[in-house]
Amino acid sequence: MFDNLSEKLDKAFHILKGHGKITEVNVADTLKEVRRALLDADVNFKIAKDFTARVKDKAIGQDVLTTLQPGQLLVKLVKDELTELMGGDVAGVNLQGTPSVILMSGLQGSGKTTFSGKLANYLQTKKNKKPLLVACDIYRPAAINQLHVVGDSIGVEVYSEPENKNPVEIAQNAIKHAKANGFNVVIVDTAGRLAVDQEMMDEIARVHDAIKPQETLFVVDSMTGQDAVNTAKAFNDILNFDGVILTKLDGDTRGGAALSIKSVVNKPIKFVGTGEKMEAIDVFYPDRMAERILG
Ligand code: GDP
Repeated sequence: MFDNLSEKLDKAFHILKGHGKITEVNVADTLKEVRRALLDADVNFKIAKDFTARVKDKAIGQDVLTTLQPGQLLVKLVKDELTELMGGDVAGVNLQGTPSVILMSGLQGSGKTTFSGKLANYLQTKKNKKPLLVACDIYRPAAINQLHVVGDSIGVEVYSEPENKNPVEIAQNAIKHAKANGFNVVIVDTAGRLAVDQEMMDEIARVHDAIKPQETLFVVDSMTGQDAVNTAKAFNDILNFDGVILTKLDGDTRGGAALSIKSVVNKPIKFVGTGEKMEAIDVFYPDRMAERILG
């Protein structure tokens, strides 16, 4: 995970090793390499530039050159800044409703259906909840079947109406079903397309308005870097979602989406997907991730 980025940052800090006395030029060179590492990770240019500017300001503010171990202090400043960039604090999921309704959004292939299952499994096994999964992808019968397979594998009921072509109605009926049958969380999986299009956006906006979810989550494939950020922006403009789910982190060597998304949409990353299995879900801790990146 993020191996390329870790390696490049490690190289950047090497500049400071092997120097008897560290100079302003050494620090500037290191920060230039840090910026290059971020750009190689597919972090947006402005974000990378602002990032190193903030680290530089702090380094000057804390008189980095006069401290005993300037290299270590600089690593710490970068770590703190990476943590901030990825969201600062841990963000939980809102489970206040009766039932709590969670709407999943995102492009086709982002990992929405898989993550819906993972979240249901997590809430059932770790939070003692009784979740109901809802299949609202009316375009692909395979998508409905896929959610049923996922639900069966974790022992969670799946609500679907294969003959109904109205996702708003399906979602509303599912919530009624949940209330009548003691489910306290409803996870609504929606239709995604391969790219952002108006019809998909209109449809998810209609579902969103009708069911007023406690939590709207945007699911995105971490490996798509800057595209992930642009898609997040498009969905956030329509849905004003509550949080981001970054999937496929296990295959992402660069980390650009994880590092950029928070500053673009100002919404936290709440969970990450780290594999295809139902257990491959982690709460996202910005500080732990920063620590991992810096090794
Ligand atoms: P959807 O179209 O958004 O519902 O996407 P799916 O849930 O069908 O996922 C698309 C593909 O990505 C499937 O083959 C999943 O097994 C795979 N997938 C989903 N999440 C992860 C993950 O965190 N890691 C890996 N390696 N694969 C994942």
